[in-house]
Amino acid sequence: MQDFFENDSPSHIVPVLVSKPVSQCYSYVSEEALEPGTYLRVPLGSNSVLGVVWDTQSALAAQDKVPDIKKLKPVDFVFAEIPPMPAIHRQFIERLARYTLSAAGAVLKMSLSSSNVFNPPQPVAGYKRISGVDPDKLTDKRRKVWEALEDGEAMRASELARAAGCSSSVIRTMADQDLLREVEMSEEGLCARPDPAFGKVTLNEDQTAAAAPLIQAVMDEKFSVTLLDGVTGSGKTEVYFEAVSQALAQGKQALILLPEITLSNAFLSRFEKRYGCAPALWHSGLTPAQRRIVWRGVACGETKVVIGARSALMLPFPNLGLIVVDEEHDQSFKQEEGVIYHARDMAVMRSYLTQIPCVLVSATPSLETLQNVVEGRYARVLLENRFGSASLPDVHIIDMRDAKEDAQHFLSQELKEAMTATIEKEEQVLLFLNRRGYAPLTLCRSCGHRYECPRCSAWMVMHQNSNQLSCHHCGHKMRVPKSCLKCEETESLVPCGPGVERIAEEVGKAFPEARMLVLSSDTAEDHKSLRDTLRRIQRGEVDIIIGTQIVAKGHHFPKLTCVGVVDADLGLAGGDPRAGERTWQLLHQVSGRAGREQAKGHVYLQSFHPDNPVIQSLASHDRERFVMLETENRQAAFLPPFSRLAALIISGPKEQEVAYFARTLIGNAPQGEGVTVLGPAQAPIYKLRNHYRYRFLVIADKGLDLQKAVRDWLSVRKVPSKIKLRVDIDPLSFL
Ligand code: ADP
Ligand code: ZN
Repeated sequence: MQDFFENDSPSHIVPVLVSKPVSQCYSYVSEEALEPGTYLRVPLGSNSVLGVVWDTQSALAAQDKVPDIKKLKPVDFVFAEIPPMPAIHRQFIERLARYTLSAAGAVLKMSLSSSNVFNPPQPVAGYKRISGVDPDKLTDKRRKVWEALEDGEAMRASELARAAGCSSSVIRTMADQDLLREVEMSEEGLCARPDPAFGKVTLNEDQTAAAAPLIQAVMDEKFSVTLLDGVTGSGKTEVYFEAVSQALAQGKQALILLPEITLSNAFLSRFEKRYGCAPALWHSGLTPAQRRIVWRGVACGETKVVIGARSALMLPFPNLGLIVVDEEHDQSFKQEEGVIYHARDMAVMRSYLTQIPCVLVSATPSLETLQNVVEGRYARVLLENRFGSASLPDVHIIDMRDAKEDAQHFLSQELKEAMTATIEKEEQVLLFLNRRGYAPLTLCRSCGHRYECPRCSAWMVMHQNSNQLSCHHCGHKMRVPKSCLKCEETESLVPCGPGVERIAEEVGKAFPEARMLVLSSDTAEDHKSLRDTLRRIQRGEVDIIIGTQIVAKGHHFPKLTCVGVVDADLGLAGGDPRAGERTWQLLHQVSGRAGREQAKGHVYLQSFHPDNPVIQSLASHDRERFVMLETENRQAAFLPPFSRLAALIISGPKEQEVAYFARTLIGNAPQGEGVTVLGPAQAPIYKLRNHYRYRFLVIADKGLDLQKAVRDWLSVRKVPSKIKLRVDIDPLSFL
């Protein structure tokens, strides 16, 4: 029979999820049939927004009544050249939204990255030499530009500017004056094909044994989670690269998630050495053009390996065969803004949906992951020894109750002697203090006034290099005043406690000859400058490195043999249930930087609480004991991994209004068996950016549907327009 509608009704109704914080699809009309997953632009209000054709059978597309086709707006534009978003990825978006109690459209937005991805690739301006120009007649700056180019070769303006160390305006002026020729270049060129056979390494016996089950898991093409648990320096990277190679051999894509700050380290050159090309990178520092190239390369399946920070998980892989989460315990996998999600946990969910293996990697696994191993949900492979002849460092505890000289000095005699000995052997020292700036607190000697951020409940941190007081929560800055703002006494401000700048000052006085370098997010502003600094350390151009957690993770400094932890107790205080675990992980990572090659490493922990189990277990390399104690504590306190948590954060500019709204929520709070609600309580950071904050904490049995309980609770009451209510499932931060 002839299709009745064929000629007179060519339109189709399509459900579209738009990339806006909405929880259902909207209907549009399209003249052509569009398959689910198709990327398009649709009108919304007075704008045109990005969206994806959704599945009619999805709960998001459910409608009370069939929409009237005459009232629907037509689709604006269809991106026919981009392969549709895979069905599994659409399911992933729905699941992630449901798990985190977020709007599916907001999750979709993360997947679409930026609207720039959908613009056609732009030709970019490049520059070439012009023959006949005499470089010796150019100014120094311009000659550098000339020298950065090779004859006949073209470079993009940004690349050239970087290579010549000048601004791109210098280059443009040169082109205007016919000293350079402008040419069109394509922006392609980032998606090389990794070759597993390129730089194959020979694994040792332990590594081979560890790699085997990972390779097998990739071959099995079904869901599994394996913890690759190995001491620092055991070669975990080489081992999971074998699984990546296996995925490549099967024609699959692989994703390696790393904490953002380790993305700029030697990891990339290692990948290049192993696979003969740079990996596709995904992190917050990409240019819009890089973002487009990687996103499109992934979407059409051409980009085989992506190494990225947590948001790389949101890329629409059509053919994923493996996810690796390196440093799985790292807190930076938790996104705390917008859609609040944990990339490690969501990676496991993604693997489950895709029916592929997920490998979690760490020398200091989270208690959650270890508990999953104990309960048999995750497999584990162990690497118990460092690669080659390297051995674990000796850890010495320095009891600061005896060793501290006065309030102005922070390095003990014992540590300074160890530093001297290290430098004499032409090896390197790392002093670790996880505190930026000069001093965490500034007060007036005369009236006792403490300098607090006007917008947050937080002390202003003194930065001596820039002569500023700065709030590390909101970024508010002020010049260090000459006289106290409260009592007007002059020269009365005193810094209290140390930050890395202050340690640098002390080191400068104690080791005037040594080459020293401070590394924190203040000194390493972007990926490039961080990479340059790390190279200088690697080449041995520095004797003493003073750094925050930015140096703790993943780096391999061959000459580094002495690590001094200035304040091992920092981080142990405070009401955070994971304070102990986190301090232990961080200090373990820092210690792991020492003695990674032949020379023996030594670690010095300066502590006022040398009996604390965290300090003790670090000194004795006894992870099992620490994990056991910490697990017992968590179990006794009914904390994760033995219960599930959800936090509600209520904030707004009007103190009374926020307090009132928080209290009204109590009435509908879930109660009864298996669930307890604590709060509302003022948040530890009560004021943040001039917003007042209250918190609830929901503690639930593991068997309880926590999301449903919270959803039901919140569905009852409308949130006033000036108040923000955020739900944080499985919270890691309690501030
Ligand atoms: P981890 O990630 O466990 O801390 P890495 O993977 O960084 O350890 O390895 C530590 C060092 O040992 C690196 O420099 C790495 O290149 C080297 N290494 C590890 N395994 C091998 C191997 N089989 N062959 C050659 N070098 C290796
Ligand atoms: Zn502030």
